[in-house]
Amino acid sequence: MDVAGAEERVEQYGLTDEQQMLRETIQAVARDRVAPRAADIDRTGEYPQDMFDLLRELGLFALPFPTEYGGTGSILSACLAIEEFGRVCYNTAYLLMVQWAPFGAILAGGTAEQKQRYLPPLASGGMRAAISVTEPGAGSDVAGIATRADRRDGGYALTGNKIYCTNAAVADFILVAAKTDPAKRHGGISIFIVDTDTPGLEIGRKEDKLGARGVPSSALHFDNAFVPEENRIGSEDEGFKLVMEAFNKGRPMIGARGIGLAQGATDLAARYVKDRQAFGQPIADFQGVRWMLADMAIQTEAARHLVYKAAAMADAGVSGAALAPIAAMSKCFATDTAMKVATDAVQLFGSAGIARENPIERYFRDAKVLQIIEGTNQIQRNIIGRHVVRSV
Ligand SMILES: Cc1cc2nc3c(=O)[nH]c(=O)nc-3n(C[C@H](O)[C@H](O)[C@H](O)COP(=O)(O)OP(=O)(O)OC[C@H]3O[C@@H](n4cnc5c(N)ncnc54)[C@H](O)[C@@H]3O)c2cc1C
Repeated sequence: MDVAGAEERVEQYGLTDEQQMLRETIQAVARDRVAPRAADIDRTGEYPQDMFDLLRELGLFALPFPTEYGGTGSILSACLAIEEFGRVCYNTAYLLMVQWAPFGAILAGGTAEQKQRYLPPLASGGMRAAISVTEPGAGSDVAGIATRADRRDGGYALTGNKIYCTNAAVADFILVAAKTDPAKRHGGISIFIVDTDTPGLEIGRKEDKLGARGVPSSALHFDNAFVPEENRIGSEDEGFKLVMEAFNKGRPMIGARGIGLAQGATDLAARYVKDRQAFGQPIADFQGVRWMLADMAIQTEAARHLVYKAAAMADAGVSGAALAPIAAMSKCFATDTAMKVATDAVQLFGSAGIARENPIERYFRDAKVLQIIEGTNQIQRNIIGRHVVRSV
C-alpha cells in the first residue's frame, strides 16, 4: 500500500476518552513527581532509578504492547505519555522510549517462545533492554557494520565493537545487530538477543554526553561471545528489515519527545517573558516577542498533529514502506521543531537563557540529541525524498 492509500485508512484520528484521561493523569504525575527531579538528573548524569520505579509502579511500560501483554496496543497512547513527561524531563521520557526500542523487532520477528519470554517482563518493567546497531565505523550506514556472528555448534560467536548503546549498563539483554554474511551489506545482517552477563561481552565506558545525560550510552566489546541459535530473531540475514521495522514504529515516539520538549520550552519562555521587564513593561508586551512565541506554538502544534497521525497509522496496522515516509516526517519535523523552539526560548531568556541555574539551557542541549538519534534528520530526509521521487 502506498502512503496515499494508507491515508485513506487513517484519514482522521482522535483521542479516546481513555487517552484523554491518560494524558491528564500523566500531566499530574509529571508536574508533582517528575519535574522536581529533572534538573538534578541532568546535572549528576546518574541513572534515575527512582523515575524507573515510578513508571513501573504506574504500569506505564506496558502502554504500546499488545493487550495480551497487558498494554493498550497503541503507539499513540505511548506518544502521549512520552510527550507529557518530555515536557518537564527529557530523561524520564527517555526511560519509556528505551524500554520500547527493542520490542518492535521482537514482535515483528520473534518466535512465540521469544515473545513469551521477553515481552511480558519488558511490559511490566521486570526486565530492561537495549538495542545495539551503531559502531565506531558505521552509524547512519547500518549496512556497513563490521561486528561478526560466526557459526558455531548450536549458535554463533560474536566479535566486534559497538558504541552508543543506550541503557546497556542497566539492561538484562541487548538486541545486537551483527553480520552473519560479512560479504553482503543489508542482506548479511542478523539480530541476536544477547544477555548482558554473556561471557565475552564487556560493557565499556559510558559516554559523557551534551544532552540525554540521565540514561547511559555505553560502548560494547564482543570477544567470541557465544549466543545460542534460539536467540536469533527471525531468519538469518533478515536483521536489517527487522531493525528498520522497529525504527519505523519507534519514530513517532521520538517525534513525541520532540513535541514534549518544544511545549516545555514554550511553557518556560512564556512564563519568563510575562515577568521580565524592559523599557518599563513586561517583554511579553512587545509584538516582536509575542510573534516569536506564536511561531513556537504554531510549529509545535503542527508537529503534534504529524506525530499523532503517524502514530495512528502505525496503530491501524500500516507498516513497512507505507509507514516509512510518514514516520520519518514525524521524527524529522518534530525534532527540528524542538531544536528551533528551544533555540528561540533561550533567546527570549536573554543572558538568563544560557545560565546553568535556569532549566531552559537543558532543553536546548537535549533538543540537539533528538536530531541525531534513531537516524539523523538528514537520513530521515533521504527516506522522505526517496518516497517523493518514487511516487510520481
Ligand atoms: C544520545 C544517543 C543515544 C544513542 N543510542 C543508540 C542506541 O541505543 N543504539 C544504537 O545502535 N545507536 C545509538 N545511537 C547512535 C545513533 O543512532 C547514531 O549516532 C546515528 O545513527 C548517526 O550515526 P553517526 O553518529 O555514526 O553519524 P554518521 O553516520 O557518521 O554521520 C555524520 C553526519 O553525516 C551525515 N550523513 C551520513 N550519511 C548521510 C547521507 N547518506 N546523506 C546525508 N547525510 C549523511 C549524518 O546525518 C551526520 O550529520 C545513539 C546516539 C546518541 C547521540
